[in-house]
Amino acid sequence: MLNFTVGPVMANNEVLSIGGEQVPYFRTQEFSNIVLENEYLMKKFVNASDGSKVIFITGSGTASMEAVVMNTLTPKDKVIVIDGGSFGHRFTQLCEIHNIPYTAIKPQIGHPVTKDMLVPFIGKGYTGLLVNIHETSTGVHYDPQILGDFCKQEKLLYIIDAISSFLADPLDMQAIGADVIITGSQKVLACAPGISIIVLGDKALTRVYESQAKTMYFNLKEALKDAERGQTPFTPAVGIIRQINARLLQIDKSGGVNSEINNVKIQAEDFRNKIKGLPFQIVSKSLSNALTPLHPTTASAYDIFLKLKDNYGIWVCPNGGALKDAIFRVGHFGAQTTKENDILINALKDLKSEGII
Ligand SMILES: *Cc1c(COP(=O)(O)O)cnc(C)c1O
Repeated sequence: MLNFTVGPVMANNEVLSIGGEQVPYFRTQEFSNIVLENEYLMKKFVNASDGSKVIFITGSGTASMEAVVMNTLTPKDKVIVIDGGSFGHRFTQLCEIHNIPYTAIKPQIGHPVTKDMLVPFIGKGYTGLLVNIHETSTGVHYDPQILGDFCKQEKLLYIIDAISSFLADPLDMQAIGADVIITGSQKVLACAPGISIIVLGDKALTRVYESQAKTMYFNLKEALKDAERGQTPFTPAVGIIRQINARLLQIDKSGGVNSEINNVKIQAEDFRNKIKGLPFQIVSKSLSNALTPLHPTTASAYDIFLKLKDNYGIWVCPNGGALKDAIFRVGHFGAQTTKENDILINALKDLKSEGII
């Protein structure tokens, strides 16, 4: 199987072999050291302030999105949500469930948020902004600096879901003034799904310490207490935390975060060059390195997904809902090289010569 989806994706051999090992008992200094090292490397890779803290939640990315909404916001807040696709929409749903007043900004499909779109929100009593910095459903990467400057000017809590952008696009928490960064194990980290990660800056930590959130599993105040010594309140996905450790160390030793981002970029640019001449339009006006969203001009996107899967053993990422036939996505992360791109391109050329696309 060749996997060009947006997660889970193909893991490298070291990560894979950890998946085949016995899972160790975790209330030990040895496991604490792994968690603390993961925290150190996460902070380094997003350039978090020294006082920032990192929480490892056993749960997919949405679990951390919900934990952040519950522990850093209250019904006294009034937040802006960038709702540019299914992940942005998820933040609006979380705000509704947890009674957080919000206003959604809905950019057109494929379009980023511009400074002009923020003007109506100046001086209107907003207290926070939530964004999926790469809206994975449509492949739009929003400019973290534009949003960050606005948050700074308006004194908003700046919450970034960078689940599919971390390690694919530059993300400097201090430079952009982000208060929260969320990511997950199964995207560019290319580990098994099951762990999501929350980096909390100073302003967000104050909110967590003051939070009265009614929850046991998602109580970040409790999680922070245990995190001091590299532990979690409940049994974590121990094996995945070990996989994440292997991946973060690999990245650190082979040139660091910028070099990893560059690898993803090379993979994306190679693919985007090679699809020229095929009947596809790139949907997004502001691309992440993580993926390319394609609109096939001659066939159904979902049919292409099925043909590649069933006839070639190649997985691209289908879209759901209204975009099912209009868009499919090709991910550029995980253990893939330009050789794998060639295999996918050859399959697409095959489909073209057969008149399927
Ligand atoms: C993958 C992803 C998520 C999380 O989805 P889960 O299925 O809960 O892991 C959230 N936001 C974005 C932008 C994503 O790409």
